[in-house]
Amino acid sequence: MWYMNEEREQLVKMIKDFAESEIRPFVKTMEETDAFPHEIIRKAGELGLIALWFPEQIGGMGKWLDYGLFLEEVSKISNCVGNCFASIPAGTSLLLSCGKPDLIGQYVIPTMMGQMVPASAQSEPVGGTRIQDFTCTAAIEGDELVINGGKIFCTNAGQADYYTVNCKTKPPYSAPFGSSCLVLVPANTPGLKIGHIENKVGWHGSSTGQLYFQDCRVPMSNLMMTMDMDESMTAAGAFGPAITTACCMLGGAEGVYEKTLAYCKERKHGDTPIFQKYQAMRHTFAELKMEIELLRSLIFGVLEDLDKGDYNISERALTAKVKGSRIFEHVASECIVLMGGNGTIVENDIERYYRDAKVTAIGGMSIYHLTDVVASQL
Ligand SMILES: Cc1cc2nc3c(=O)[nH]c(=O)nc-3n(C[C@H](O)[C@H](O)[C@H](O)COP(=O)(O)OP(=O)(O)OC[C@H]3O[C@@H](n4cnc5c(N)ncnc54)[C@H](O)[C@@H]3O)c2cc1C
Repeated sequence: MWYMNEEREQLVKMIKDFAESEIRPFVKTMEETDAFPHEIIRKAGELGLIALWFPEQIGGMGKWLDYGLFLEEVSKISNCVGNCFASIPAGTSLLLSCGKPDLIGQYVIPTMMGQMVPASAQSEPVGGTRIQDFTCTAAIEGDELVINGGKIFCTNAGQADYYTVNCKTKPPYSAPFGSSCLVLVPANTPGLKIGHIENKVGWHGSSTGQLYFQDCRVPMSNLMMTMDMDESMTAAGAFGPAITTACCMLGGAEGVYEKTLAYCKERKHGDTPIFQKYQAMRHTFAELKMEIELLRSLIFGVLEDLDKGDYNISERALTAKVKGSRIFEHVASECIVLMGGNGTIVENDIERYYRDAKVTAIGGMSIYHLTDVVASQL
């Protein structure tokens, strides 16, 4: 691969060892009990794997591409765990860009070290993309912000140590704060309650749930940033989550492909492995492989550009998520068929990838919405 070198080969080997020893044994428990991977996150932090993405100024490695390799390898074994790690940049990038040293020291650095879990709470029942209709408010009272309202579909709900919450600035207090703001709310703040945790088709182990804020008070210093309320905020903030989620889709597609290929090379009809016996099957594998490699080229090209400081990648990042979602789902679906009856059996752990692929089409922004962002720029 053009982007690999000796250092990255060693990194990938270390990630593979980590994923085999820490993640694979936990997959069944996650599937069956929805257990959150706190311990996995803590260990990844200790090994410096989360720091791969964080900027050098705060002690990270500042490498999008290396973090992409991490997400890819982890997602081969568990797309859900991969997405837990993908949610870390989503939950901390705006916190970093607000540039407040206290918030960075208290929240971002422990997150980079795997000691804290972030969450990003934007979506409301009016529709995840209808920012202008959101009703959660932040009012200024003295040197505090008072939050009232609710959020839904928040990844890491009930498991996070802090939430970055998108609020409408409550009139008459909006000037000079813009019409909306992002506020950091620690999980243990009085007035914040965790509501229902959803039972999803996939991503078992990733907690997705509701938050309620009732006269929830945080100091004014927790105000991260203010902005004007419009949909461009969603579009502008979309490329980071889009490209990290796409890395997880790539890993998920590779993971299910590799398992299925190994099975078909082993499974015999008569004396011959079905992979050898049926040309149609080899062609299907070849098609799937081509789709995976196409996706890899797109994703790692974007990651390499980001590392060079070229941020003019929004459209390609959104394309990677939209096409990655389609490719992951298609590969997982075909793999079920390639394995025959055994592909449908839960214990064989193939259908999990298909269920996870469905969730990735929506979590971290739906692929229809991202397609609409691209369409609006035509
Ligand atoms: C597993 C999971 C994790 C999530 N994690 C988070 C999180 O951490 N934080 C958070 O804030 N939200 C999160 N979400 C919410 C997610 O962003 C929304 O579900 C998504 O934006 C769709 O919104 P909705 O569910 O309200 O559907 P609706 O808005 O009702 O959408 C219905 C349909 O309309 C389409 N649609 C909506 N808007 C547009 C548009 N502008 N252009 C074209 N089509 C459109 C949708 O794609 C969908 O097909 C998560 C969701 C899931 C399922």
